[in-house]
Amino acid sequence: MEQIKRQTPENGGYKETDRELREGSRSERKGEAMEGLEKEEDREILRMEVESRSSNEEFARVAVAVFMSRLDPTMEEIDDVKTAVSEAVTNAVIHGYQGESGIIYIQVTIEGRLLSVEVEDRGVGIGDVKKAMEPMYTTDTTGERSGMGFSFMEAFMDQVQVKSAPGKGTCVMMKKRIGR
Ligand code: ATP
Ligand code: MG
Repeated sequence: MEQIKRQTPENGGYKETDRELREGSRSERKGEAMEGLEKEEDREILRMEVESRSSNEEFARVAVAVFMSRLDPTMEEIDDVKTAVSEAVTNAVIHGYQGESGIIYIQVTIEGRLLSVEVEDRGVGIGDVKKAMEPMYTTDTTGERSGMGFSFMEAFMDQVQVKSAPGKGTCVMMKKRIGR
C-alpha cells in the first residue's frame, strides 16, 4: 500500500496555496462552470466522489481549498481546512477501506460564511467513536500512525461530528466559520 505522510504547514506540505488562490478566482471569473457545483440561493455545494487512494487525498484537499477561496479566507484558514480534509480522507483510505478499493464521498457546503465538509466512506466503520476520537488512540499496529487525526480535525475546525456503524461506514462532518 502506498504510504501517506501527514503534511503540515510546518513541514512545507502546502506549497500550492498561492496557485490555488489564483485558480480559485479564475474559476469564479469563468462563472459557475465547475462540475458538480450547485447553487441554491445562498448555499453553494460541491460534491465529489473519488476512488480510495492516496493520490486522491491530495486532490480532495486542493479541490476544497480552491472551492473555499470564494470566501476570501486567510492562508491560515485554508491550511486549517486542508489539514482537516487530509486527515479525514486519509482515514477513509487507510482505515475505512483498509487499502482496498472503494468510493469516498465528499461534500463541501458554503452557507454565508460557514464552511461544512463531509467525508464519507462505506468501509469497515468504527465500533466506539468516542474512543477513536481520543488523542493518541489508534488501531494501527505498524507504529506509523500516531492516533492524532481526529485531534487535528477538532483543533483546526470549529466542530467535528462523526457518525459510524461497523460494517457500514463512517461519515465525518466538520464545520468552520471563515472570516470574522
Ligand atoms: P494518525 O491520524 O495520527 O495517522 P490514526 O489514523 O490512527 O493515526 P485518527 O485519525 O485519530 O488516528 O483515528 C483514530 C482511529 O479511529 C484509527 O486508528 C481507526 O481505528 C479509527 N478510524 C478513523 N477513521 C476511520 C474510518 N474512516 N473508518 C474506520 N475507522 C476509522
Ligand atoms: Mg488518521
